[in-house]
Amino acid sequence: MKNRSSCGNMIKYQLVARGIIDEKVLKAFSSVPRHLFVPDEIRYLAYNDSPLSIGEGQTISQPYIVALMMQILELKESDKVLEIGTGSGYQTALLAEIATEVFTVERINSLIQKAENLLNDLGYKNIFYRFGDGTLGWKDGNPEQNKFDKIIVAAAAPDIPESLTSQLAMNGKLIIPTGNRTFQQLVVITRTEDGYIHTNEGGCTFVPLIGDEGWQE
Ligand code: SAM
Repeated sequence: MKNRSSCGNMIKYQLVARGIIDEKVLKAFSSVPRHLFVPDEIRYLAYNDSPLSIGEGQTISQPYIVALMMQILELKESDKVLEIGTGSGYQTALLAEIATEVFTVERINSLIQKAENLLNDLGYKNIFYRFGDGTLGWKDGNPEQNKFDKIIVAAAAPDIPESLTSQLAMNGKLIIPTGNRTFQQLVVITRTEDGYIHTNEGGCTFVPLIGDEGWQE
């Protein structure tokens, strides 16, 4: 009961009050119990307006930044989504509430194992998991047939990984924090018939994206 009212307050005061109006995003936040995705000892902080430590030097992102990125992507039910940085699996669950299929990649094995177990226990059947370097995206089979409508990167890159833009479907959107290790801009790339359009959605701070097309440790 307490968790339900904390979740309601999070949606009202952290999301709606700051301009999150996409009904699909708000419904997803009300459906996913955030407290299950944080370590037991800090569960009482789960609905706070901040990122939280999930171990391995990583974080579950602040609810507002997750909602903002999802709203900017204009997610649709028919979307095939690629998520880089599974972390706790919380954002994965939110995406899976809206999209038809979610492909998620994480470079820390213990995190993706834990997230996969929890998401399976919660009954998600439309999520596909991969342990590895997400800067390279999700390369399988014929690259022409394996494109994503939306790509969301939950860690900060020095530059936009070319492997990710090349895996965007026509009219698809990629959102990625880009900048230095301490401060970044939320960059959105839309693939159009005339090329890739870049827009900047403001400042943010994320943990580093480490890999072949990211930071080197
Ligand atoms: N969205 C997650 C959640 O809801 O808990 C939080 C993600 S956390 C801010 C960023 C994650 O990106 C970390 O778990 C980190 O290990 C992961 N990461 C960093 N570089 C990566 C890479 N090259 N490929 C996949 N995951 C990566």
